[in-house]
Amino acid sequence: MVFTLSPYLPITPSLSHQIAEEPLKIDQVIKGIKRDELLKLTQELIRVPSVRCEDRGGEGKVALFVARHLEEMGLDVVVEEVEPGSPNVIGILQGQGEGSCLMFECHTDVVTEGDPSEWKYDPYEGKLIGNRIYGRGACDTKGNLAAALKAVEAICRSGVPFKGKILLGILVDEEGLMRGVKHFIRHGWANHVNAAIICEPVDNHLCITQKGALRVELITTGKMSHGAMPLAGFNPIPPMVSILQKIKHLEEEEIERLGKDSFLGYPSITPTVLQAPVKGEPQLNVVPYQCRALLDIRTIPGQSHEALKKQLEDILKEEERVVCESLRSGSLREIREILEKGLSKGISFEAQLNIFEDRPWTKTSKEEPIVQAVAKAYQSITGGEPVYDGVPGATDGTFLTAWAGIPIVTIGAGKRMVPHQKDEWVSIEDLCLTAKLYAASALEFLTR
Ligand SMILES: [Zn+2]
Repeated sequence: MVFTLSPYLPITPSLSHQIAEEPLKIDQVIKGIKRDELLKLTQELIRVPSVRCEDRGGEGKVALFVARHLEEMGLDVVVEEVEPGSPNVIGILQGQGEGSCLMFECHTDVVTEGDPSEWKYDPYEGKLIGNRIYGRGACDTKGNLAAALKAVEAICRSGVPFKGKILLGILVDEEGLMRGVKHFIRHGWANHVNAAIICEPVDNHLCITQKGALRVELITTGKMSHGAMPLAGFNPIPPMVSILQKIKHLEEEEIERLGKDSFLGYPSITPTVLQAPVKGEPQLNVVPYQCRALLDIRTIPGQSHEALKKQLEDILKEEERVVCESLRSGSLREIREILEKGLSKGISFEAQLNIFEDRPWTKTSKEEPIVQAVAKAYQSITGGEPVYDGVPGATDGTFLTAWAGIPIVTIGAGKRMVPHQKDEWVSIEDLCLTAKLYAASALEFLTR
């Protein structure tokens, strides 16, 4: 790679000395990033399957492989078990003297390969075809993990001085409940991190915002009965339908109020699961006891999760109040009939709300030093301007910002639509660019 000064950078006489020195350092480091080594490491990582299982982890083997690699690089390495079989790996490269701490965050877990016979190539072979490496995790995010390791290794080998330190946080369970990053924060690792680069497949766009998410369960409870005598029970399905209609209305109000975010699009409240009965066989002639719905809520900057939770609670409370009032007063024709027949005994209605995951949206200002450092690195390496963008889902970065106040940038190789599909792949050329961007970003951030 021959370094050329970006044509977009204005060089004023006062800045020329400074700019002339920086590219030399960056050039010296990125020369050490070798395509073949990056390819080999990506393949090695893919060849250690790390699909997470709820009861026995799954990232253990690949985490230990990474830990050994970091030790060989000469980093200080800590392996911390989050759950049995699921350890976080933390590697630290010390710079010279006091300064900031830059974190590279990657995850070791991958999602299931599904039916391997559906794949063109073995999902764990890491096959190279033309310019592409195929395999589960190639894109999300073992390729980017390899790029981060090779970037730090190149900095280490080059001997180019920098201040502060680089922390590699190679965490578990990003695809699940993000227990790895939560453990990392709870154990104090995030306390001294000044900024983080989240290594995820986003077409090497410079992502400065991420959607938030709420995972919600709704349960309506009535009374089971024979389908031929529905009035002997109480059907929990119609109140659930009414609740979901009101929630649809709430979604429309939020879209109206906030409009379209330029990077993230519209907010959404999507019912993804609807079940009745919740337990046992569904049968046509049985009025179920309970009905359950799951909501996948995605939020954008400007929305308050607390306000949304309150609005959902109010919708459920109101439905419960109206239904219970009808049951008590016998105002409905059917209810009068029930009361007359003396069948109302034990009939009640309840609506419950359970929020089991809350991931706030994030937004990092373009003025933040980490955003400026990555943008400058992008200009230095490519000679062009970065494409600013947003991440449609939550990442481990969500919690680094929400719980620890760390400014984040998400950037990495890989097409956005490729993760979690069969025949997952990543371009080796894109990974090379990513490794150079990571190395240059670290130098920009830690030598400024
Ligand atoms: Zn990922």
